[in-house]
Amino acid sequence: MTARNKLINLLAIYCQCAADGHRMDGEGLVLLDLPKTRGKLARDRDMSSLTWLRVGGLADYFFQPEDEADLRGFLSALSPEISIFPMGVGSNLIVRDGGLRAVVIRLGRGFNKIQIEGLRVNAGAAALDAHVAKKAAAAGLDLTFLRTIPGSIGGALRMNAGCYGSYVADHFISARLITRAGEEITVLKEDLVFGYRYSTIPDEAVVIEVTFEAHSVDPEALHKRMVEQINKRDETQPTKDLSAGSTFRNPSGFSSTGRADDPNDLKAWKVIDDAGLRGARLGGAQMSKKHPNFLINAGNATAADLEGLGELVRKRVFKHSQIELMWEIMRVGEPIA
Ligand SMILES: Cc1cc2nc3c(=O)[nH]c(=O)nc-3n(C[C@H](O)[C@H](O)[C@H](O)COP(=O)(O)OP(=O)(O)OC[C@H]3O[C@@H](n4cnc5c(N)ncnc54)[C@H](O)[C@@H]3O)c2cc1C
Repeated sequence: MTARNKLINLLAIYCQCAADGHRMDGEGLVLLDLPKTRGKLARDRDMSSLTWLRVGGLADYFFQPEDEADLRGFLSALSPEISIFPMGVGSNLIVRDGGLRAVVIRLGRGFNKIQIEGLRVNAGAAALDAHVAKKAAAAGLDLTFLRTIPGSIGGALRMNAGCYGSYVADHFISARLITRAGEEITVLKEDLVFGYRYSTIPDEAVVIEVTFEAHSVDPEALHKRMVEQINKRDETQPTKDLSAGSTFRNPSGFSSTGRADDPNDLKAWKVIDDAGLRGARLGGAQMSKKHPNFLINAGNATAADLEGLGELVRKRVFKHSQIELMWEIMRVGEPIA
């Protein structure tokens, strides 16, 4: 290649980079307009590798802060026009195929400490629910309901996650958040409203730590209960398939308690089954044959297949029983036009 052609090529790359929000410096590409960070910042991150359903287009930016100070500094310097989307481990998300026009923020190692003081458990938002349950149980504290929920503590608070009759709200004491403007605030139980798979954590606030209180119970009994819960899940749910857990909230308005006296009439799985939709398929998406309220990626599903099947199920269930199913899975991002 001649020197002139090289220069023309470089200029073309430079123009494309500028249009994409990048610029070139001596070391190659750097990001334009985003604050400096000690953490990791990437452009055009494929979200399908970060969600349990393995679907999702590109996020404009993907940010993993090094620590709290890094997160605060980044958010306070980030132009307010740029949206952010805090995510956990993507176990309750369909990211649409067109991706997310936002800075996706995912907390990592700097945010996963679990500390126990008396009856209180302080857990970093990136700590996995299962780790928190196990560590609490080893100290004789009962947060066993978290053991089989595959998310992180940040996601658990946002969703008021729960099962077997216990919810995050039952144990919640306080949480530390970083607001969109980069300020740290502490919220107490009386500052929030909790509902079924719902809390009033503001959309763009990043949860960084949650404090729970739990009853003191013999660690052996807690361990036994957690093993029983894992076995029960494996018996009744498609735990080996790609899913995001329950697709729709139970029309009864509460999650299954797992108790024998908990009637099935207003469970989402039952009304889907009654409408003849167990095993229903659309493209690579399927309503699980094992548990009809689990929407699974049965092979190369797109987000459009999954969401499309979910909407079809909502329509058919309404036609069959006049029950309007409400999504429990969060759907975010843009479809492909
Ligand atoms: C097999 C399976 C079984 C499941 N069983 C249950 C169950 O029994 N009970 C139950 O409640 N759920 C269940 N789920 C759903 C899911 O695990 C929970 O909703 C979980 O709490 C989501 O956590 P996450 O870290 O994956 O959050 P994500 O899915 O990544 O995000 C969910 C929401 O939380 C927000 N969020 C996440 N982290 C933060 C943060 N640090 N700061 C602010 N917002 C944040 C996101 O913006 C998003 O709105 C199941 C899922 C699967 C795959």
